[in-house]
Amino acid sequence: MQVSQIQNLKVAVVGGGYAGASAALALLQLGADVHVYEQAPELGEVGAGIGLRPPTVEVLRKWGVFEEFEKVSAPSEAIEVYQANGELIARDPWPGINEYAQVNHCRMVHRGDVIETLLRLLPAERVHIGHKMVAVTDNGDSATVKFENGVEVAADLVLGADGIRSSVRNQIFGEVQPVFSHTIAMRAVISADDAYGLVENDNFRVYVGQNGTTVYFLPLRHRNQVSFDITAPSDDTAWAPEVTHEYIADLLEGFDERLQKIGQELDIAKMTNRGVFDIDKQPNWHTDSVALVGDAAHAMLHHQGQGANSAMQDAAWLAEAIQEGSDLKDALRIYQEKRKPITDVLQDISRKPFDIGDSFPETTSFAKGAGVE
Ligand SMILES: Cc1cc2nc3c(=O)[nH]c(=O)nc-3n(C[C@H](O)[C@H](O)[C@H](O)COP(=O)(O)OP(=O)(O)OC[C@H]3O[C@@H](n4cnc5c(N)ncnc54)[C@H](O)[C@@H]3O)c2cc1C
Repeated sequence: MQVSQIQNLKVAVVGGGYAGASAALALLQLGADVHVYEQAPELGEVGAGIGLRPPTVEVLRKWGVFEEFEKVSAPSEAIEVYQANGELIARDPWPGINEYAQVNHCRMVHRGDVIETLLRLLPAERVHIGHKMVAVTDNGDSATVKFENGVEVAADLVLGADGIRSSVRNQIFGEVQPVFSHTIAMRAVISADDAYGLVENDNFRVYVGQNGTTVYFLPLRHRNQVSFDITAPSDDTAWAPEVTHEYIADLLEGFDERLQKIGQELDIAKMTNRGVFDIDKQPNWHTDSVALVGDAAHAMLHHQGQGANSAMQDAAWLAEAIQEGSDLKDALRIYQEKRKPITDVLQDISRKPFDIGDSFPETTSFAKGAGVE
């Protein structure tokens, strides 16, 4: 699209998470008229640690904001896979780390810092918190969104960045039921001082148990913390399953004693416990005036740590498509055509539980414009 067309493009982004905040940043940089609507009444430090993968780091460099993320993250060289008892099986450099003009480490970061940094980079008047979307209407060349507080907005493009239970998706493309993976994830961010010396470097550790239990250990050394995740088989579909120290002790039996001790000392009240869901691959992500990004389009299980990364990379691919397309309709076609094959593969791979012998799949590189082969 020509610069003048993009400058006239009115975009309403529903959801201010990884996908929505990134898409807003990328489209604002192109000159589009973008507003973000987030249902939360305030923005708090929700969530735990993630790794921003090398291709995502490259996107941040392309947007000229890498330094902002550098300040709130730590550079990680490698992924380490351990037997439950602490025996090292493999240490692999992060896929893609050496495939750019400079070394792109994976950046260990707290979710709250990513969202806070992205939203801080947007002009304040373009971020509207306390706006819960209740209805979206596709009018063909435009779309209208209505919020619970009575506000109504018309836009050329409505972006559904409202997560796995996306209301935009369900209203425009048909109801999609999240699929339960029969696992729960129990997460806590603890002080590195309470990690029995396990936070030795910035490497991400995966401990794989015989009983289907996996511990994901993600250091946040710049915060003197570690993000500790136990993922285990379960049929508890509750939004926030209740866990006890006895339950955690059972799950961690046979694991490195230091992990068992950490498990026993977790503050249960501060843990975030969730049944783990994804969605099936969706046939279509867009109409002429509504499109999906992030989990709304392709929620995936967390075994490969790709969901948030994909959400942020979607924004870059969408912005490229908007520049490339002859008009918005063409741009949305290009976005789906180029991006969906990549996330389709990641959704498939992520359904496999982490298994010894697996290696983390090479992510496709935005910088190289590579697709999945
Ligand atoms: C246990 C676990 C561990 C994970 N670990 C990793 C990891 O290590 N690496 C990784 O890359 N990914 C990881 N993920 C995946 C990652 O969390 C998601 O893929 C990511 O949050 C998707 O971002 P999103 O912006 O699309 O959706 P969300 O983060 O769900 O954000 C959606 C936003 O939309 C808002 N919203 C929803 N409905 C409305 C509405 N009606 N109106 C207005 N606003 C609305 C919400 O409040 C929210 O702010 C993990 C997920 C889980 C469950």
